[in-house]
Formats: sequence, structure tokens, C-alpha cells
Amino acid sequence: MKILFAASEVVPFAKTGGLADVAGALPKAIKKLGHDIRIVLPLYGGKIDRAKWGLKQIIANLEIELGENAELVNIFECLLPGSDIRVYFVDSRFFSDRKELYMLGGKDNPQNFEAFLVFSKAVVNFLNELKWRPDIIHCNDWQSGLVPLFVKLQRRKDPAYKRTATVYSVHNMAYQGLFPAEKFGLLGLPETYLGEDALGCWEKISFAKGGFLYADVISTVSETYAKEIQTKEYGAGMDDLLRQRSKDLYGIINGVDYEVWNPATDKNLVRRYTRNTLSLRPENKAALQEDMELPLDPDTPLFGIVSRLDAQKGFDILDEAAEDIMGLDLQMCLLGTGDPHYHDLFRRLRKEHPKKMGVKLGFDAALAEMIYAGSDCFLMPSRYEPCGLGQLIGFKYGCVPVVRLTGGLADTVKEYNPRTGKGDGFVFEDYSAKELFKAIELAVKAYQDQAKWKKLQQRIMAYDFSWDASAKKYITLYMKAIDKVI
Ligand code: ADP
Repeated sequence: MKILFAASEVVPFAKTGGLADVAGALPKAIKKLGHDIRIVLPLYGGKIDRAKWGLKQIIANLEIELGENAELVNIFECLLPGSDIRVYFVDSRFFSDRKELYMLGGKDNPQNFEAFLVFSKAVVNFLNELKWRPDIIHCNDWQSGLVPLFVKLQRRKDPAYKRTATVYSVHNMAYQGLFPAEKFGLLGLPETYLGEDALGCWEKISFAKGGFLYADVISTVSETYAKEIQTKEYGAGMDDLLRQRSKDLYGIINGVDYEVWNPATDKNLVRRYTRNTLSLRPENKAALQEDMELPLDPDTPLFGIVSRLDAQKGFDILDEAAEDIMGLDLQMCLLGTGDPHYHDLFRRLRKEHPKKMGVKLGFDAALAEMIYAGSDCFLMPSRYEPCGLGQLIGFKYGCVPVVRLTGGLADTVKEYNPRTGKGDGFVFEDYSAKELFKAIELAVKAYQDQAKWKKLQQRIMAYDFSWDASAKKYITLYMKAIDKVI
């Protein structure tokens, strides 16, 4: 099977969150199954170093219609490091200055509409030049949401696209790519596409609807989230539409790339370890405590957080429970960046509890790995969580997850019972400060029994959440999409 994987972020080139991890790892697992998969992403000029990755230009001045004008884009190519997967980069003037993927000065980049419209059109058009016809174009989130629509339109006029099916994966319903209706003319589509039964959405244009409506098959990143998004509470206004498409909507849990996330080989750790050499792990805890300017105390349980700082992630209940939590015998450390409101919150908590709360505001891949390796628990009190990678990475590093049971967290973390030794983390169901506090309190208690705790760590470290199983499920999904176009 030939597959083109379109994403706006791909590890190791550009990352803001879990999508990048998926895009850098799932294609490798699919390739291992014997398929020809290639990746396409935007060339963020201020972020992706052409020389470092050995990018070569393969197509120059490809014309892309943008309203009345023709935009010229170039296509570059390199191999995904550690693989023989071809990666294509769309080089457009709308991306050429970007240091950040979607933001500029703390706000959405005002050129996002043009940038991702040109990207989506380029994804469809450059295939003509490439003389390589994928059976599947797998699109991800709103940034490539228009691709299924453009493919569908292209199928009508160009037989070469007749057998190309599309899959649209949504990694987070909250991001829908909504833009002012005045920009509609730039899409080059008939007026009818502005209707609420097409791209129109609350009098705006939604790029995500391009995927929800026109993709042959839709997926999201866990079975529970696939159900949740068909409800009012989690559907972000798309629940009606998703219920209508429920026969074409699937949930496949993300995997973890153990070539990247592995405490036995991780170069960013002070001390590497395995489940059989767990006694080495505390060296990482000490280094982390030092880094986070916390007292060097091996016996106090340390709760780590690595997260985008966003309302989704449960920091309002953490804020509400903070005084009670800080009253427990524990330490907490956070690495994150995002909403300035939460930057203020964590700066305040650090100031008020300097011996208990360590805070680093920013994006730091190496420190993130130290947090998984040095913390005793990994905290994810999410309001919603499509899949969540932190808990899965936590398993691999022997960092016991403390999570709210929603989306992928509900599918992957079962409640630990210290009496029977069964289960793999600390969980709570109601989204409330009280329930969060109780879960943390239970974890602190359980940590006192170090013999049992070590057994728990050893068990979760043996779990296999590699991409192999999920990659097979994606192939089945691709077959379903292909069945719809032949
Ligand atoms: P989301 O996609 O909603 O951000 P996930 O849990 O699916 O959440 O994935 C988050 C990924 O991003 C994980 O690999 C996590 O370690 C990483 N990450 C999040 N914030 C940071 C940060 N500030 N620094 C380094 N890595 C981060």
C-alpha cells in the first residue's frame, strides 16, 4: 500500500505536542509492515534547519491557486532520521519566517489561514509532479483538514486521483482551525461550501470540517475519545456531525516510539536503567531535584508534570487543590509552556512553596526525559485527554501515572490496588479538586511501601505500548477507506 502521511508537526523536525510524536513514529511502524509510506509537513523557515537535516529541493515553483493569485511553493525532501522514509517539506512564503509553528507573539499567527490552505493544496497538487500516487492520504488535525475536500474535488476532474482515499485523524477536538468567513474567496470554492452543511461553522470557516465531512474514514486516538466526541460535553460543537458519521469513525490508541523513549538508552538521563536495575533510578531523581531547585530528598515522593499549559490539562482543579496537596509530604515539579494564566499560577505556587514545588516554564525535550526518569509519579489531571502520551511514557520509565479517567487515560490506566497489587496507577473519575487530591493522597500513601512500589514500577515498565499493534489497526482502517473509493 502507498500512503502519504500529512501532518503539521513531525518529530524530530518540529513539535508542539503529541501529534509530532505520532507523526514521527507511526510511519516507521507502518513501514516495518512492508508499506510505502511517506510524510509531508510545512517547512517552518525559522525552525527547521535545512543544512542540519540535509534537505534537497525536488520541485521548484509549483503553482498553488490562492484566490485570484498563484502562490509559488517549493518542495524539499530528506529521509526521516533512523529510517528510509521520505519526508517532503512544503516551502511557502507563509512559513518561511516562522520560528513558532502556529503562534506569533503569543497569539495565533494571523497568516494561519493562508499558510495551511496553501499547505493543504500543495499536498494534493505536488503528487502530480511527483508521479507517485498514494492509495491513502492520511491527514491529521485542522492544518491538513482541507485535504480530503480537495482530493474529493480533484477525483471528479482528474482520473489519477480516483483511487486515492483519505483518512482524517483528529488528535484534539478543541482545535478546529476556525477563520473569518470573509476569507472564503481565497479557497476558490463555490459559495455553497460556505454553508453550515459544508465548511461553514458558527459563521466562520472550519478547516476541521473539511476532514469530518469529506474524508472517507475518520479516526481519533483512543476508543473512549471516539465515543466521547460524539457527545455534547466533548464534541466541541461537532457532536451532531460526528454522530452522523459514527459508522466511519474509529478510535486507535497511540503508541510510544521506544527508540526515543527508553530509559535503557536515553542519552538525556544522568543514569540509564532498566526494570532490573531500578536501584540506579534514584540518581535521576536527585539530579532532577537539583535542577528543579528542590531539597535533595530521596524518600519524599516526587510528582512530575510535563505538559502544554492549557485549560484542557486540569490545572484549574490543581490550583483549587494546591493548598491541600502542598500540605502532603511530597514534592512536585512541572515543565510546561502555554497559556500565560498558568505561567502565573505555577510561578505563584513556586514562590509560595519553594521547598515543594519546582517549576520550569518552557519547552525542553531533555528535561522532559529527566522528569519521566526522576519523578515517582506522573500527574495528568486532564479535563479531557484524546490519548495522552505522558502516562505511556511514564509506564516505560517506571513513573507511576496519576490520572483522571477520560479519553485515552481511561483506556490505558487501571486503578492500582495496594492490597492485591493489581492495576497500574492512581485514578479519579469526577473532574474535581477533591477527587484529584484523594488520588494524590493515595499515591503518597502507597509510596511508603517501597517493596510494593518497586514491584509496581517493574510491572508497568514491562508494558508494551509500542506502535506495532496500532500500526496494524491503521492498515485495517486504510483498507476500509480504500473500499469506499473503489
Ligand atoms: P498533547 O498532545 O495534548 O500536548 P500528549 O500527552 O499527547 O499531549 O503529548 C505531549 C507530548 O509533548 C509528550 O511527549 C510530552 O512529553 C511533550 N511535552 C509537552 N510539553 C512539553 C514541554 N514543555 N517540554 C518538553 N516536552 C513537552
